[in-house]
Amino acid sequence: MARLLLALWGGWVMLCPFSASAWGFFAHERINGLAVNLLPPGLQALFRSQQTYLIRHATDPDKRRYAVKEEGPRHYIDLDRYGTYPFDSLPREWKQAVARFTEDTLQQHGIVPWWMEVMTGRLIKAFREKDIPRILQNAAEIGHYLSDAHVPLHTCRNHNGQFSGQRGIHGLWESRIPELLAVGKWNFWIGQAAFIEDMPAYWWLRLLESSLAADSVLRIEKELDARTDPSEKYAYEERKGKLVRQYSTRYTKQYDSLMNGMVERRMRLSVQSVASIWFTCWVLAGQPDLPSSPQQHEDPEQREMIRQLDRQWRLKRVNGSEHL
Ligand SMILES: [Zn+2]
Repeated sequence: MARLLLALWGGWVMLCPFSASAWGFFAHERINGLAVNLLPPGLQALFRSQQTYLIRHATDPDKRRYAVKEEGPRHYIDLDRYGTYPFDSLPREWKQAVARFTEDTLQQHGIVPWWMEVMTGRLIKAFREKDIPRILQNAAEIGHYLSDAHVPLHTCRNHNGQFSGQRGIHGLWESRIPELLAVGKWNFWIGQAAFIEDMPAYWWLRLLESSLAADSVLRIEKELDARTDPSEKYAYEERKGKLVRQYSTRYTKQYDSLMNGMVERRMRLSVQSVASIWFTCWVLAGQPDLPSSPQQHEDPEQREMIRQLDRQWRLKRVNGSEHL
């Protein structure tokens, strides 16, 4: 009855979309913001002065999905399309992978590890040229793609539980849990950025870890669902100032605790990875001196492009794959 009354509120009540976007916007923003704290002084001065930019633009790649068809596959890779762990049949090198599977197939199943190579190449070039707007834009977006690679459901085709009757699990894992628990409850005292000898090997390792965890992510929720009364699984609770029907706080906490801190661990590791990749690109570019308070940190063309993306994103014109 209470639920019926709430539903009659109309304007106040909406179904919580929790659109799958590999780490929700909340987590993406926090990961970029926290990664700044791990940087060494030579890099931290610039990044700290532009922390707000790095946070605000952490979600640009997801917004771009609604305008650019090629964007979708850059956020994931369905490794289970290539056999079983550790997916040895899939060459890690792009040209070899294309020769073996064709570019169409790779694009269809996601290209995040190879897109990271493109993005880190761009960041190194921007550092070498001391091109502040490009440094910040590429760094913010690398923070996004690399964090996506840490999300288990971004490495399997059943990415939103659509094949196992668990539709919505993507948002539960990457949005609902961090939004409920990250602030004040999780420990983000992480240490320092580290130089990474072999960047591609590093993110392949993170993807393989994600892939190993995907089964547990799905199985644990399935088991919890089976022993939970449906009336307790969802609840009308406040989210961003609105009353929405979403996974209940109780169910969300139970799921998180059954996963034994996995979401917190993956989020912490995302922060560490993002800082370390930023740092490594700077070292590979020769550790250039950078201004601590640049005059120009965003070029007008880029600002206009982002403004348009933002508008299209709000209109939700989806052109790409549903897998975010
Ligand atoms: Zn994404």
